[in-house]
Amino acid sequence: MIDALERIVDVAGLLTGTDIGPRYLNARGHGVAGTPLCVLRPKSTAEVSEILKLCHARGQAIVPQGGMSGLVGGGVPLGGEVVLSLERMIKIEEFDADGRTLTVQAGVILQTAHEYCEARGFMLPLDLGARGSATMGGVISTNAGGVRVIRYGMMRESVLGLEVVLADGTIISSMNKMLKNNAGYDLKHMFIGSEGTLGLVTRAVCRLRAKPKSVNTAFAGIDKFDDVVAFLGHLESTLGGELGSFEVMWSSYDQFVRERCPSLRPPLNAGRGFYVLVETLGNDPSADVAKLESILAESMEKGLVADAAVAQSEQQRAAFWAIRENAGEGFRTLGPICSYDVSMPIRSMGQFGEHITQSISTAYPGATTLVLGHMGDGNLHVVAAVGLGTPAARKQVNDIVYGVIRDLGGSVSAEHGIGTEKKDYLSWSRTPEEIALMRTLKRALDPKGILNPGKVL
Ligand code: ZN
Repeated sequence: MIDALERIVDVAGLLTGTDIGPRYLNARGHGVAGTPLCVLRPKSTAEVSEILKLCHARGQAIVPQGGMSGLVGGGVPLGGEVVLSLERMIKIEEFDADGRTLTVQAGVILQTAHEYCEARGFMLPLDLGARGSATMGGVISTNAGGVRVIRYGMMRESVLGLEVVLADGTIISSMNKMLKNNAGYDLKHMFIGSEGTLGLVTRAVCRLRAKPKSVNTAFAGIDKFDDVVAFLGHLESTLGGELGSFEVMWSSYDQFVRERCPSLRPPLNAGRGFYVLVETLGNDPSADVAKLESILAESMEKGLVADAAVAQSEQQRAAFWAIRENAGEGFRTLGPICSYDVSMPIRSMGQFGEHITQSISTAYPGATTLVLGHMGDGNLHVVAAVGLGTPAARKQVNDIVYGVIRDLGGSVSAEHGIGTEKKDYLSWSRTPEEIALMRTLKRALDPKGILNPGKVL
């Protein structure tokens, strides 16, 4: 097998044995990675196609990899597979200012794409904490979400065209550049979010937006959950589409930040039930701050918001975001943690937060349960530390959180995907008929089951 693969890629394109660095095995706490047969680093779609033809003929399993920043183990080898890393396919192929598109190869780093677009007055809206390592192919394969979904949608909304290589090596070059194209089935959506189980993304045409001329960020303290919902509604109706982020942190998270994250400086006093990070993306730098300030003042008069601060500099803005994104130093003090990425109707979130915090504390007295997330998108993240990292403890906490999600009609994965981590719970938020149709698609596109086996289904 390795002899045959060697003939397809160049010398740097094949790694075996001890040359396979930890980067390709990164298990991120999702069990122990298995040992892959080898790592392949192709440089072109043609090479990817040749590799897949060969693997298909021989029934050889493949694990596709991007930047390895995924959180559900989707890129982690389980043992015996060929790892196919797109890390050398890093060309930005075309930028079209009139059509507002960017054509990239799959291995381009998200941040590189951001910087390229911003230097030209445009933006690629998808943004997330792992921007420095996540790749375009990865964020497309996982339909990543992040902090601007409320305004621009998930990655799916920013993909116009896609090139994928099917399990048998067939190249589907569907590099559409138009916003509208209803000529038959929109095939790209089958691959976006399929976590490399239906085909391998090699290139994409992304939709760009005009770069906002002003970004304003505020922190608000709110006492009751119903007021958080009302505040979101108020912002949506008064900002005329300029709301870029609406991130909510429960009081447990605020307390945790104050106790365990000495480098973070919350801008408001402690003691509120909820803290909201609001960001507006506007086009009138001279008026946008005043607009946000007056909306906040009005919300305080109405009694929705108890306390608020608006960032007065880029440095303050970064400090606000750090509270939401950079609590890693605190997480590391918690011991083993279980983390969740769930979605549900916004009105159910208050009840969800209370319910799981109580149930986890009942099962594990002294447990820490932190709730925060992209509330405007119906998406919350939960971090639970119960003092144990055993499979049995994890299963018990999973069952508590996902049980509430199932009862609320929510989803066990809002934006991270299923990978291996949530496979056992897919049926808690998809019907047997939905899963049967997923299997039908999988069989049709990958009859030998060589594409990322053991993931998703
Ligand atoms: Zn998130």
